[in-house]
Amino acid sequence: MSDRSPRAILLDLDDTLYDHQYASRKAIEETISLDDALFAAGADSVEIQHRHWLELLHLDVARGARTGDDARSERWARIISHFGGDASQSDQLANAQRENYLRHERAVPGAIEAVASLREAGYTLSIVSNNTRAEQIGKLERLGLVDAFADIVVSADHGINKPDARLFHIALDRLGVSAAQVVHVGDSWSTDIEGAMNAGIRPVWFNRFGATALRSGVAEVADLRELLGALRGR
Ligand SMILES: [Mg+2]
Repeated sequence: MSDRSPRAILLDLDDTLYDHQYASRKAIEETISLDDALFAAGADSVEIQHRHWLELLHLDVARGARTGDDARSERWARIISHFGGDASQSDQLANAQRENYLRHERAVPGAIEAVASLREAGYTLSIVSNNTRAEQIGKLERLGLVDAFADIVVSADHGINKPDARLFHIALDRLGVSAAQVVHVGDSWSTDIEGAMNAGIRPVWFNRFGATALRSGVAEVADLRELLGALRGR
Protein backbone atom coordinates (compact mmCIF):
# COMPACT_ATOMS: atom_id res chain seq x y z
CA MET A 1 0.00 0.00 0.00
CA SER A 2 3.05 2.27 0.21
CA ASP A 3 2.42 3.80 -3.22
CA ARG A 4 -0.94 5.17 -2.04
CA SER A 5 -0.26 6.18 1.55
CA PRO A 6 -3.49 7.16 3.29
CA ARG A 7 -3.84 10.43 5.21
CA ALA A 8 -6.65 9.36 7.45
CA ILE A 9 -7.83 6.10 8.93
CA LEU A 10 -11.45 5.25 9.62
CA LEU A 11 -11.93 2.69 12.36
CA ASP A 12 -14.82 0.59 13.55
CA LEU A 13 -15.21 0.56 17.35
CA ASP A 14 -16.98 -2.59 18.59
CA ASP A 15 -14.72 -5.64 18.42
CA THR A 16 -12.08 -3.61 16.60
CA LEU A 17 -10.96 -1.29 19.43
CA TYR A 18 -13.52 -2.10 22.17
CA ASP A 19 -13.61 -5.76 23.18
CA HIS A 20 -17.37 -6.24 23.10
CA GLN A 21 -17.12 -9.98 22.57
CA TYR A 22 -15.00 -10.49 25.69
CA ALA A 23 -17.21 -8.40 27.99
CA SER A 24 -20.35 -9.92 26.52
CA ARG A 25 -19.20 -13.50 27.18
CA LYS A 26 -18.11 -12.68 30.74
CA ALA A 27 -21.43 -10.96 31.41
CA ILE A 28 -23.41 -13.93 30.11
CA GLU A 29 -21.46 -16.35 32.30
CA GLU A 30 -22.35 -14.27 35.36
CA THR A 31 -25.91 -13.33 34.43
CA ILE A 32 -27.18 -16.85 33.77
CA SER A 33 -26.59 -17.76 37.42
CA LEU A 34 -29.72 -15.68 38.19
CA ASP A 35 -32.08 -18.02 36.33
CA ASP A 36 -32.22 -21.83 36.74
CA ALA A 37 -33.26 -22.54 33.15
CA LEU A 38 -30.52 -20.36 31.67
CA PHE A 39 -27.92 -21.76 34.04
CA ALA A 40 -28.91 -25.30 33.03
CA ALA A 41 -28.66 -24.38 29.34
CA GLY A 42 -25.10 -23.15 29.86
CA ALA A 43 -23.14 -20.12 28.69
CA ASP A 44 -22.38 -21.48 25.20
CA SER A 45 -26.05 -21.98 24.32
CA VAL A 46 -27.15 -18.71 25.89
CA GLU A 47 -24.34 -16.87 24.08
CA ILE A 48 -25.60 -18.13 20.70
CA GLN A 49 -29.13 -16.90 21.46
CA HIS A 50 -27.77 -13.66 22.89
CA ARG A 51 -25.74 -12.93 19.76
CA HIS A 52 -28.73 -13.70 17.53
CA TRP A 53 -31.06 -11.30 19.32
CA LEU A 54 -28.38 -8.67 19.86
CA GLU A 55 -27.61 -8.53 16.14
CA LEU A 56 -31.29 -8.35 15.18
CA LEU A 57 -32.36 -5.76 17.75
CA HIS A 58 -29.14 -3.73 17.49
CA LEU A 59 -30.02 -2.81 13.91
CA ASP A 60 -32.89 -0.73 15.35
CA VAL A 61 -30.65 0.83 18.03
CA ALA A 62 -27.93 1.62 15.50
CA ARG A 63 -30.30 3.55 13.24
CA GLY A 64 -31.84 5.36 16.20
CA ALA A 65 -35.21 3.60 16.08
CA ARG A 66 -35.04 1.94 19.52
CA THR A 67 -33.23 2.73 22.79
CA GLY A 68 -30.45 0.53 24.10
CA ASP A 69 -32.40 -0.12 27.31
CA ASP A 70 -35.47 -1.21 25.38
CA ALA A 71 -33.42 -3.49 23.13
CA ARG A 72 -31.70 -5.04 26.15
CA SER A 73 -34.99 -5.85 27.92
CA GLU A 74 -36.47 -7.26 24.74
CA ARG A 75 -33.32 -9.34 24.10
CA TRP A 76 -33.42 -10.92 27.52
CA ALA A 77 -37.17 -11.55 27.29
CA ARG A 78 -36.56 -13.46 24.04
CA ILE A 79 -33.64 -15.43 25.53
CA ILE A 80 -35.62 -16.37 28.65
CA SER A 81 -38.57 -17.40 26.51
CA HIS A 82 -36.33 -19.56 24.30
CA PHE A 83 -34.98 -21.50 27.29
CA GLY A 84 -38.25 -21.63 29.25
CA GLY A 85 -37.01 -19.41 32.06
CA ASP A 86 -38.92 -17.05 34.34
CA ALA A 87 -40.40 -14.33 32.09
CA SER A 88 -40.93 -11.95 35.03
CA GLN A 89 -37.14 -11.77 35.43
CA SER A 90 -36.28 -10.22 32.08
CA ASP A 91 -35.68 -6.66 33.30
CA GLN A 92 -33.66 -7.90 36.26
CA LEU A 93 -31.48 -10.03 34.01
CA ALA A 94 -31.11 -7.23 31.48
CA ASN A 95 -29.91 -4.86 34.21
CA ALA A 96 -27.56 -7.46 35.67
CA GLN A 97 -26.11 -8.16 32.24
CA ARG A 98 -25.47 -4.46 31.65
CA GLU A 99 -23.66 -4.10 35.01
CA ASN A 100 -21.63 -7.26 34.44
CA TYR A 101 -20.76 -6.15 30.90
CA LEU A 102 -19.44 -2.78 32.04
CA ARG A 103 -17.40 -4.41 34.79
CA HIS A 104 -15.58 -6.54 32.22
CA GLU A 105 -15.10 -3.93 29.53
CA ARG A 106 -11.63 -3.56 28.07
CA ALA A 107 -9.83 -2.54 24.90
CA VAL A 108 -9.06 -5.21 22.33
CA PRO A 109 -5.50 -6.35 23.12
CA GLY A 110 -3.08 -4.13 21.19
CA ALA A 111 -5.68 -1.47 20.34
CA ILE A 112 -4.42 1.24 22.70
CA GLU A 113 -0.81 0.89 21.46
CA ALA A 114 -1.97 0.75 17.84
CA VAL A 115 -3.99 3.96 18.14
CA ALA A 116 -1.06 5.75 19.80
CA SER A 117 1.38 4.65 17.08
CA LEU A 118 -0.99 5.64 14.27
CA ARG A 119 -1.40 9.10 15.77
CA GLU A 120 2.34 9.42 16.27
CA ALA A 121 2.80 8.53 12.59
CA GLY A 122 0.59 11.51 11.72
CA TYR A 123 -2.65 9.85 10.65
CA THR A 124 -5.96 11.55 11.32
CA LEU A 125 -8.33 9.04 12.93
CA SER A 126 -12.11 8.83 12.84
CA ILE A 127 -14.54 6.28 14.23
CA VAL A 128 -17.29 4.97 11.92
CA SER A 129 -19.64 2.85 14.01
CA ASN A 130 -23.12 1.36 13.96
CA ASN A 131 -24.36 2.60 17.32
CA THR A 132 -25.49 5.67 19.26
CA ARG A 133 -23.22 8.62 20.04
CA ALA A 134 -23.70 8.44 23.82
CA GLU A 135 -22.89 4.73 23.92
CA GLN A 136 -19.77 5.01 21.79
CA ILE A 137 -18.42 8.20 23.41
CA GLY A 138 -18.84 6.50 26.79
CA LYS A 139 -16.77 3.53 25.65
CA LEU A 140 -14.03 5.72 24.18
CA GLU A 141 -13.89 7.85 27.33
CA ARG A 142 -13.64 4.84 29.61
CA LEU A 143 -10.86 3.37 27.45
CA GLY A 144 -9.05 6.72 27.51
CA LEU A 145 -9.25 6.99 23.71
CA VAL A 146 -11.78 9.74 23.09
CA ASP A 147 -9.16 12.44 22.44
CA ALA A 148 -7.34 10.27 19.89
CA PHE A 149 -10.09 10.77 17.32
CA ALA A 150 -10.63 13.82 15.15
CA ASP A 151 -14.22 12.72 14.59
CA ILE A 152 -16.76 10.10 15.63
CA VAL A 153 -19.40 9.16 13.08
CA VAL A 154 -22.23 7.01 14.40
CA SER A 155 -25.12 5.51 12.48
CA ALA A 156 -27.85 6.59 14.91
CA ASP A 157 -27.13 10.27 14.21
CA HIS A 158 -27.96 9.75 10.54
CA GLY A 159 -30.42 6.83 10.46
CA ILE A 160 -27.96 4.97 8.21
CA ASN A 161 -26.07 1.79 9.17
CA LYS A 162 -22.87 0.42 7.67
CA PRO A 163 -22.53 -1.12 5.04
CA ASP A 164 -24.41 1.84 3.50
CA ALA A 165 -21.78 3.89 1.65
CA ARG A 166 -23.46 7.12 2.78
CA LEU A 167 -22.19 6.71 6.35
CA PHE A 168 -18.62 6.46 5.05
CA HIS A 169 -19.16 9.46 2.77
CA ILE A 170 -20.30 11.51 5.78
CA ALA A 171 -17.04 10.58 7.55
CA LEU A 172 -14.98 11.60 4.47
CA ASP A 173 -16.82 14.92 4.09
CA ARG A 174 -16.33 15.81 7.73
CA LEU A 175 -12.59 15.07 7.57
CA GLY A 176 -12.26 16.87 4.22
CA VAL A 177 -10.59 13.90 2.52
CA SER A 178 -11.40 11.76 -0.51
CA ALA A 179 -12.08 8.02 -0.53
CA ALA A 180 -8.64 7.48 -2.09
CA GLN A 181 -6.96 9.18 0.88
CA VAL A 182 -8.25 6.82 3.57
CA VAL A 183 -8.50 3.22 4.62
CA HIS A 184 -11.23 1.73 6.78
CA VAL A 185 -10.33 -0.85 9.41
CA GLY A 186 -12.92 -3.15 10.95
CA ASP A 187 -13.67 -6.67 12.13
CA SER A 188 -16.99 -7.26 10.36
CA TRP A 189 -16.92 -8.47 6.78
CA SER A 190 -20.58 -7.63 6.18
CA THR A 191 -20.52 -4.09 7.57
CA ASP A 192 -16.89 -2.87 7.50
CA ILE A 193 -15.38 -4.60 4.48
CA GLU A 194 -18.49 -4.54 2.27
CA GLY A 195 -19.28 -1.02 3.46
CA ALA A 196 -15.82 0.38 2.71
CA MET A 197 -15.89 -1.23 -0.73
CA ASN A 198 -19.37 0.22 -1.35
CA ALA A 199 -17.89 3.66 -0.61
CA GLY A 200 -14.80 3.17 -2.79
CA ILE A 201 -12.52 3.03 0.27
CA ARG A 202 -9.74 0.51 0.69
CA PRO A 203 -10.69 -1.86 3.52
CA VAL A 204 -8.36 -3.49 6.01
CA TRP A 205 -9.97 -6.48 7.66
CA PHE A 206 -9.17 -6.91 11.36
CA ASN A 207 -9.24 -10.69 11.38
CA ARG A 208 -8.46 -11.40 15.00
CA PHE A 209 -9.64 -14.99 15.12
CA GLY A 210 -8.34 -16.34 11.82
CA ALA A 211 -11.64 -16.45 9.92
CA THR A 212 -11.72 -17.14 6.18
CA ALA A 213 -11.96 -14.12 3.89
CA LEU A 214 -15.09 -14.01 1.73
CA ARG A 215 -13.07 -12.74 -1.20
CA SER A 216 -9.38 -12.50 -2.00
CA GLY A 217 -7.32 -9.35 -2.31
CA VAL A 218 -8.49 -7.62 0.88
CA ALA A 219 -5.65 -6.54 3.19
CA GLU A 220 -5.94 -7.99 6.68
CA VAL A 221 -4.20 -7.87 10.05
CA ALA A 222 -4.59 -10.30 12.95
CA ASP A 223 -3.30 -7.76 15.47
CA LEU A 224 -3.89 -4.00 15.27
CA ARG A 225 -0.23 -3.41 16.09
CA GLU A 226 0.51 -4.77 12.56
CA LEU A 227 -1.56 -2.01 11.00
CA LEU A 228 1.10 0.68 10.78
CA GLY A 229 3.50 -1.72 9.05
CA ALA A 230 0.74 -2.85 6.68
CA LEU A 231 -0.05 0.78 5.75
CA ARG A 232 3.63 1.42 5.04
CA GLY A 233 3.75 -1.67 2.83
CA ARG A 234 6.04 -3.69 5.06
MG1 LIG B 1 -17.16 -4.30 14.80
